[in-house]
Amino acid sequence: MVKIGVLALQGAVREHFQQLNMLGCDAVAVKTVEDLKGIHGLILPGGESTTMRKLLDRYCLLEPIQMLEKQGLPMFGTCAGLILLAKEVVGYDEPHLGVMDVLVERNSFGRQIDSFEVKLPIPEIGGDIPAVFIRAPHIVKVGENVEVLALHEDRIVLARDRHLLGCSFHPELTEDVRILQYFVNMVHESTKTSLAKLHTI
Ligand code: GLN
Repeated sequence: MVKIGVLALQGAVREHFQQLNMLGCDAVAVKTVEDLKGIHGLILPGGESTTMRKLLDRYCLLEPIQMLEKQGLPMFGTCAGLILLAKEVVGYDEPHLGVMDVLVERNSFGRQIDSFEVKLPIPEIGGDIPAVFIRAPHIVKVGENVEVLALHEDRIVLARDRHLLGCSFHPELTEDVRILQYFVNMVHESTKTSLAKLHTI
């Protein structure tokens, strides 16, 4: 059984747990460096990226997560989690984890529509996938090896950079687990390669 960590410092943690269990994964809460040991994948949930960054620093998690990323550990950032993963954030001199080759902009869907749900066609994954946007960021620009998986209003809202998956919205707030299943498949794939067995911190 694959073991997937969910960064549990702040934000939408519980929903990820329930859905990971539904998909037959062992889900563990990551609050300390110790909790990162032995995981096959890591989810960075939505919430507030600036608060999460402070907590990542406080619990000394930033560097260990960067090390695991370098070793190819699959990671999935939703909403604030995408902001944490991004190499560049509009208006910031320094990124947070700075590992996914994308430029993101925070709070980019306007004040009037702070929160809304749409159904997205995602050719790699399926049709009519419900997506809940809550003060959501979007991906302004992607690096050359990044695969754009979904757009909303001509803006990139789901992309994959090798073993890193990032989306603007909250798949875990709907009953539809197809995006999470896509990530779990990435984790299964990575456990087949020898590199994944070497994850150490
Ligand atoms: N606006 C939040 C941020 O910038 C992200 C919102 C969310 O995760 N739902 O961190």
